[in-house]
Amino acid sequence: MIERTYLDWNATAPLRPQAREAMVAALDALGNPSSVHAEGRAARRLIDEARRRVAALVGAEPADVVFTSGGTEANATALCPTTGTDVLLVSAIEHPSVLAGGRFPAENVASVPVGPDGVLDLGALERQLGAVEQGARRAVVSLMHANNETGIVQPIAAAAALVHAAGGLLHVDAVQTAGRIPCDIKALGADLLSVSAHKLGGPKGVGALVRCSATVDWPAPLIKGGGQERGTRAGTENVAGIAGFGAAAAARDLAAEGRRLATLRGRLEGGLKGAFPRTVVFGEAAERLPNTTLFSLPGVKAETAVIGLDLAGVAVSSGAACSSGKVAASHVLAAMSVPGPLARGAVRVSLGYTTQEADIERFLAAWRTLAETLFKEQRGMAA
Ligand code: PLP
Repeated sequence: MIERTYLDWNATAPLRPQAREAMVAALDALGNPSSVHAEGRAARRLIDEARRRVAALVGAEPADVVFTSGGTEANATALCPTTGTDVLLVSAIEHPSVLAGGRFPAENVASVPVGPDGVLDLGALERQLGAVEQGARRAVVSLMHANNETGIVQPIAAAAALVHAAGGLLHVDAVQTAGRIPCDIKALGADLLSVSAHKLGGPKGVGALVRCSATVDWPAPLIKGGGQERGTRAGTENVAGIAGFGAAAAARDLAAEGRRLATLRGRLEGGLKGAFPRTVVFGEAAERLPNTTLFSLPGVKAETAVIGLDLAGVAVSSGAACSSGKVAASHVLAAMSVPGPLARGAVRVSLGYTTQEADIERFLAAWRTLAETLFKEQRGMAA
């Protein structure tokens, strides 16, 4: 079997050993966390500890964390009209779980553009908020902290100031940033924030919706039933998953890891351009997550590249992993006005804490072989 190189961390990150250990131990926790007996209290303690750790990761109080089945459910829960909020503004580059609009009727959802640099157009946001205010309405605004395809970090604190000046509420999808770059709910100015365990080395199928303080009301529950999660999310808790989430949230040194990944990414992009100077790196001039590169080489289609690299033992993705399987141009690159043929070649390489220089070299070697073979075939067909 050929050695595998995993460079698709924005799709999902490998389980951290600490998370596995915590989960295996929690699988033997017998009690239902809602039960008052000793077994129930032991399971409850595991959840409480994880709640403290997830809260610390994003600078919140434990009481302001509600566990969900992942980022998608956290987003869907957050996007809820409440008394006085009847308009939803979302940026054009949001994850599909936000673009779906949550519980807002489609006619009350509007899109805020980004510039060709992939950064939210703050002027447009201000104008759209002004129009909402003029109509004596109030907006919920949902913005991602960093984009899952390009890694471009959004000006959340500046957007928060505009949203709050217009009397609105800000939800931030921090699924790609929590555990990767500083992500403090108060520094960002977010009212609500979504996180997901599997992007930071926890298990798949667990996430959290976090609020900045008790001054922000929880949205109405999406899943109604028992009183778990203080009535905000019914259902017996996924104790092992939550314990794994907590362990993964606690295990990191953001600054050192960020610097290391930025160096590896620099080597990756330098290698891509050195081999093929026509390579385009999307969002290169903007602030990006240190682990993410989205690039295109004219003449190479993303589907061909992803399959070819997979056969060579390298796992990457084309655009968003959540939409892989569909050969549709990325809505993120369309929003950045990237021409169709260039967008259809977009390959995303995303790194993480186990990535080493040897992985980058293996990727570059596989990429060179693949692109040269494709170009040779194209020349043969043209001859
Ligand atoms: N938001 C962003 C920015 C994402 O990248 C993803 C997953 O790719 C999600 C939300 C959904 O999270 P989950 O997979 O936990 O449902």
